[in-house]
Amino acid sequence: MAEVKKIAVIAGDGIGPEVVAEAEKVLKKTEEVFGYKFETEHGLFGGIAIDETGTPLPQDTLEICRRADAVLLGAVGGPKWDNNPKELRPETGLLGIRKELGLFSNIRPAVIFDCLKDASTLKPEVLEGTDLIVVRELTGGIYFGDKFRREGEHGEEAVDTCVYNVQEVERIVRQAFEIARTRRKKLASVDKANVLETSRLWRETVNRIAPDYPDVELEHVLVDNCAMQLLRRPSSFDVIVTENMFGDILSDEAAMLTGSIGMLSSASLGEGSFGLYEPVHGSAPDIAGQGISNPIATILSVALMFRLTFGYHEAAAAIENAVKEVLDAGHRTGDIAVDKSRAIGTVEMGDLIVAAIRK
Ligand code: NAD
Repeated sequence: MAEVKKIAVIAGDGIGPEVVAEAEKVLKKTEEVFGYKFETEHGLFGGIAIDETGTPLPQDTLEICRRADAVLLGAVGGPKWDNNPKELRPETGLLGIRKELGLFSNIRPAVIFDCLKDASTLKPEVLEGTDLIVVRELTGGIYFGDKFRREGEHGEEAVDTCVYNVQEVERIVRQAFEIARTRRKKLASVDKANVLETSRLWRETVNRIAPDYPDVELEHVLVDNCAMQLLRRPSSFDVIVTENMFGDILSDEAAMLTGSIGMLSSASLGEGSFGLYEPVHGSAPDIAGQGISNPIATILSVALMFRLTFGYHEAAAAIENAVKEVLDAGHRTGDIAVDKSRAIGTVEMGDLIVAAIRK
């Protein structure tokens, strides 16, 4: 009997429940095909949690997440809650859940599906073979350093401080090396070591631990150069690891290589194998409830969960292949369809992918 894996399922707002429902069908199918056992527990989060419990991140939901091996999240937010005070906003719940669960890295794959190459703004020949992951540090750096205003010689000044300690750098870089080991074994560490002291500490730390991973090929890339190389030679990258602000910018740039937000999965990881998996897109209130959202980002988030938390690599590949097969056969939801009149709905896309999952 396979070990039972516990998954906290948090659908959230807008299209969240629609896309998560399709991902749950995928979980069920992989139980049948691969003999896994999943136990799911559902929790309220975001706007719906505000409406029903008065807080975006109820204690019950946190408990469900803490009991689980992994969390599958849809999306949160919407115009209904946009004018709420800060503590009653869905986005506050997002920051809270990451903090409470000790998640310190954000992982975003950018994979080009051949049949969607034309959806990108880059030339197909540049994109050929692109399959990379950006690993972004989430808890340190300039976003969390001291911030203040002061009176300077030329009037008011603003100061943001960027702080990193060795331990913060080491834990994320080790995680990135480990991820690289499960892939093409190439790691690009991105910094600005020619200018920033935090980057010099970052680079020293990377060089110190690199000998522990002799099987992984390491390169150091300056962030400005990396921004260029992502557009020039995206297929040459495998895993990119970088600090918070650089990662914020580079992961959005890498996301755009693929051309569609409805296709992008992500993970936030802490110590050990625990992780929170979610599509990169938001709750898309403009199309919520119409049954036309693309469930692929959420389905690919399940594949990412299988790889990074459960080590179910064969099933992860089966999900990714199923997505590819369905796209190759010409099926598209509205966001990725050239001929919108032939677009299929959320449930139909989910059903086709589920049907294509096999050993
Ligand atoms: P969004 O990603 O929700 O939507 C941007 C555009 O992409 C919209 O036109 C939408 O229809 C389309 N889109 C997004 N996902 C799609 C999918 N799966 N299939 C088809 N089309 C899709 O971003 P936004 O409009 O800026 O934000 C809407 C709400 O979502 C806001 O309240 C925002 O705060 C929230 N948000 C939440 C998260 C999260 O939960 N992690 C992330 C981003 C935004």
